[in-house]
Order: sequence, then C-alpha cells, then structure tokens
Amino acid sequence: MLVIRRNNQSNKLDPNKTQIWLGAAERGCKVVSEFQLKRDIIEVGRRIYNSGFVAANDGNISIRVNDNLVLTTPTGVSKGFLTQDMIVTVDMDGKVISGNWRPSSELKMHLAVYRAREDIKSVVHAHPPYATAFAVAGFALEKPIMPEVVINLGWVPLTQYGTPSTEEIPEAILPYLPCHDAFLLQNHGALTVGTDVYNALFKMETLEMGAKISLFARLLGGEREISPENVERLLEVRRNLGMTGSHPALCDLPEANNVAAAQPPGGDRVDETELKRIITEVVKQVLAEQRG
Ligand SMILES: [Zn+2]
Repeated sequence: MLVIRRNNQSNKLDPNKTQIWLGAAERGCKVVSEFQLKRDIIEVGRRIYNSGFVAANDGNISIRVNDNLVLTTPTGVSKGFLTQDMIVTVDMDGKVISGNWRPSSELKMHLAVYRAREDIKSVVHAHPPYATAFAVAGFALEKPIMPEVVINLGWVPLTQYGTPSTEEIPEAILPYLPCHDAFLLQNHGALTVGTDVYNALFKMETLEMGAKISLFARLLGGEREISPENVERLLEVRRNLGMTGSHPALCDLPEANNVAAAQPPGGDRVDETELKRIITEVVKQVLAEQRG
C-alpha cells in the first residue's frame, strides 16, 4: 500500500485528494489517500503501544509517500494516542513540509533506510522487551528455531550501539540493510522495514515472538535448531510465496550470511568454556591464598 502522486517534484500534498504517482499501476501499487495513510500510522501506533512494544512516548513510525515526502510520527507524544493532526510530513532532508508538530527524533534512521532501499515504504522502530533484551545482552537472533521467523526474517543482526537521534544508528544499520528487513539495535531496541506499515509492523511482531520463544527455550535448557535441510525447505516456501523484502539467506552479499560480523565489536564477550576456566583459576588462587 502506498500513496501515489503524479508530480514527484511537488512538495504539496492535498489531504482531500487521492494522489496519483506516475507509473503506479505498472508497479501494481494500490492507490490510497493521505488520510488513509495517516490512519494506518495511528492504528499501528496504537498496536505497538497496546502490545507493550513501546512505553510512554517511545518509538516512531513512518511511511514513504513518494520520492520526496515521508509521513512520520511526532516526537514527545505517546504512539498509542496519535491523531491525524499530529502526523508530520517531511521531505527527504528531514525538513518539515506540513504539520505543527516536531518530527520524530529518530527521523534520520528512517530517511537513511528510504535512501538506501527503494522497495521500502515504511519503517517501524520500537522497544519490544524480549527482542530488546537480546539487543541489551549483546546477542543477535541467529538460530533457526521457528518456521515463521525463518521464512519472514531469517536471522536478525545486532547492529552496533549508536546514540539516538545522531547519524550513528543509521550508519550502524546500513551495512545490513541490503539483506535484512529486521534489526536489533544494541542497547536500544528494534527496527523493521516493509512494503507498507502493516508489513513492517508484522515483522516487528514476528521478531518479538521469536525473541520471546528463544529466551524461554534457553530457560528450558536451550533451543533445538531446525535442521539445515528443513531450513532449506522453509526457504523454498518463501520463494514459492513470492514474498517481498530482503532475506539474508536469499541475498547475494557475503556479509549477510556472516553471523559473527553482526556481533557487537570490542571482543569483550567470553565463551562459556573460557569463562569456566577463568572462574576455576580464580577459585584455586583464592583457596591457595587462604591455605597459605
Ligand atoms: Zn528508540
């Protein structure tokens, strides 16, 4: 779904008219009004708030209207209580074109996505607690444990920490953007992208569901992974469905399949065997000192 207009050079949207974008029909695009798109943003805001994916005024949602214009949520407002007048229209430089509210402080992240991938028409950013717990603990979601996650997202990278509202987060996401539609943002939250705002929302829901199940499976002794043969069959299902968007297992870029590359830099994580060795060593030393 996207709003479509005839003149890509114009910055003015007429909220009462359905906008027509040249070539829309050829691309198989559905024509919708700006009013409807704002309604979709309001509905998705309500859903992420009611699902507990955001607290207070957190999170942001945008829809790309055309080559020049993006509709986005305002900053400092709960996404569960948005109204039509709060949705801001900005250009691709982030300049406010219409609306009386200040756009999202994370707008740079949204615009960077739209600049990098023409197929993306919507971006959703939230802090879903289970997915964010993985992002805080420093884990990517790389294990194939649920068919829905494998088909829709593949593995989800953990991007390097960046200060919100700066260029650091967009820069951290960009290397993974060609081959992924969902991202864990280290010590921050999650980002999903889609062909429309519900497509991006559903990826956020799939990501959170995968993270939640992964966490509980670890509490029960660890995840049992789907075998490589069965993963391949799931990918075949995705191919047959003709699904839109990017998927790491169906992407040509080599870094897409390099899970290690998605781990946070710094090398301060220690594997379990090494950790046991260090603890044993320390205990021995303490005991030796006590005896001495
Ligand atoms: Zn955030």
